Amino acid sequence: ATPTSIMAGSGRSAEFGILFKGGEHLEQTHRLDTIILDKTGTVTNGTPKLTDVSTDWNEADLLTLVGAAEKQSEHPLAEAIVEGIQDLGIELGVAEFFEAIPGHGVQAKVDGRLLHVGTRRLMSHENIDVPETTLDQMVSFEKTGKTAMLVAVDHQFAGLVAVADTIKETSKAAIARLKEMGLDVVMITGDNKQTAEAIAKQAGIEHTIAEVLPEGKAEEVKKLQESGHKVAMVGDGINDAPALATADIGMAIGTGTDVAMEAADITLIRGDLNSIADAIMMSKKTIANIK
Ligand code: ADP
Ligand code: MG
Repeated sequence: ATPTSIMAGSGRSAEFGILFKGGEHLEQTHRLDTIILDKTGTVTNGTPKLTDVSTDWNEADLLTLVGAAEKQSEHPLAEAIVEGIQDLGIELGVAEFFEAIPGHGVQAKVDGRLLHVGTRRLMSHENIDVPETTLDQMVSFEKTGKTAMLVAVDHQFAGLVAVADTIKETSKAAIARLKEMGLDVVMITGDNKQTAEAIAKQAGIEHTIAEVLPEGKAEEVKKLQESGHKVAMVGDGINDAPALATADIGMAIGTGTDVAMEAADITLIRGDLNSIADAIMMSKKTIANIK
């Protein structure tokens, strides 16, 4: 590889908002055959909105408690819930105790009451019974691409809240382009299977890996590498960092967290997934000049 062609390639890429950390990454990117995309904030805009609340409680009373718990969480889902509650003009309570349960939800103490908000697994782990009708309702939300979370107060089921995220305007075309280039596109998420499949369908992705625990994304990358694939991981979150570092090429979304950018080999300044195909093209051109 001549330093001149690498420099030219890096410079040209930077003009497109694609920042290669080193020349070796620009030389390797054209070898990729599999692209793993994180769901939230990568395929989607990552700014979900609270859309549904279902409860037999007085809604404001329940949301006061839920808001107090979620206010302590830094998760994008929590932000969506808190904003939605505030937009309804409901005041948030104050949590006396809070704990995030990564990949599952949150637990908190508010006004002397113990609150759990999160997944089915969180509820079953806490031995909280959820009515069949609620579970059915949850699935119907999920099939439209929403993320539904269960709420329990003092270990009694109390309600269901749902949020909706939207796919980026550019995702579908960008993914079609990658597939046309012969790449295998996979979406990975901690979210449940139904939601993942609904979002994947909107984006034109056939392969999804769902309900992955925060530490599990890197494992999934490794599995694909062990079966002989050259894998790119594309993500924005703190919990994408180990997978970004493990992948043959890690690509961080520039609007994401600093931790993701530090772990990655390439930063895609524009949130647009078209930059993935552009990065591969830049690598191909650079290699062609070298030869
Ligand atoms: P992702 O980043 O893909 O959304 P996570 O592993 O962070 O995945 O979360 C997995 C699931 O755990 C979420 O889909 C949600 O159901 C639940 N969860 C996570 N954080 C919270 C939270 N703050 N409040 C309620 N539920 C949560
Ligand atoms: Mg994300």
